[in-house]
Amino acid sequence: MKTLGFIGLGNMGLPMAKNLLGADFMVKGFDLSSDALNAFKEAGGTVCSSVGETASNVDCVITMLPSGPIVQDTYLGDDGILANCGSDCLLIDSSTIDVATARAVSAAAADKGCAMLDAPVSGGVSGAAAGTLAFMVGGSKDAFDRAQPVLDPMGAKIVHAGDSGNGQAAKACNNMLLAISMIGTCEAFNLGRSLGLDDQVFFDIASNASGQSWSLTSYCPVPGPLPTSPANNGYQPGFATALMLKDLGLAMEAAQSTGVQTPLGELSKKIYSAMTDAGHGGVDFSGVIKHLDGSL
Ligand code: NAD
Repeated sequence: MKTLGFIGLGNMGLPMAKNLLGADFMVKGFDLSSDALNAFKEAGGTVCSSVGETASNVDCVITMLPSGPIVQDTYLGDDGILANCGSDCLLIDSSTIDVATARAVSAAAADKGCAMLDAPVSGGVSGAAAGTLAFMVGGSKDAFDRAQPVLDPMGAKIVHAGDSGNGQAAKACNNMLLAISMIGTCEAFNLGRSLGLDDQVFFDIASNASGQSWSLTSYCPVPGPLPTSPANNGYQPGFATALMLKDLGLAMEAAQSTGVQTPLGELSKKIYSAMTDAGHGGVDFSGVIKHLDGSL
């Protein structure tokens, strides 16, 4: 694979595309924003004037777009990706979207003979810049193997999660668990403080006991114990509350579609929704500790 098309050159897509350029791919790109296109051109990318032009005569198309409806339009529209790409072109959607749309678009691609992967990421803008994203990938094993040279320059951990849609399923389940565990960790600190327990003392105990979790030991929501966590930086993101709320919405949509019970996922969504409604969607999601104690 030599020539790639990249659609959606925003906060995540631009640094991802830069890493592909750095790995000696020829990258054609398109975005609705002229600022994004200028930055892409400055990095050595070849600017296109439409989705269709980006998808023509390339070995692989990667999309990094805001939502399911936009992904659907971009692939299935009249001048969309499927109308313009060759049948041997590999399609990779790295946007975070709902499982149902991921599966529907992949089925439409298969009708044209194209292999498609849903490959959402975690790791945020810093992981995108460093080329250390974690990719959760749904689709055939054959397409997954073909995608390795393209995903490698952008990611540190690339996991095949199963058939089409399973990458999005893994991302929704992981982030629902993260939201629940972060809120639980915040509640424990707030309760400890109210009982006179020092933050660092509680951290030292819980991080070596059964309360241990990633939210506690890798992203501690109070300042002090972990100097790199956003709590030490006024809860600047990191991972903004608005993005966590988007992911919880996708998880709850998926839960509704299968009828499974996710009461804590629902409650987490209500809490992050209240925080966003109060104007704090730009605060890191660990700042929920301040929302819960009433100081935000
Ligand atoms: P962003 O808003 O910065 O970038 C999206 C880009 O898509 C924008 O530049 C926009 O102009 C472009 N765009 C929108 N509609 C388009 C269209 N029809 N054709 C071409 N370009 C179009 O968003 P982002 O932060 O880069 O996020 C992209 C995706 O990655 C989202 O699905 C998000 O949920 C997911 N994600 C984001 C993060 C993060 O930390 N920002 C982390 C993991 C996953």
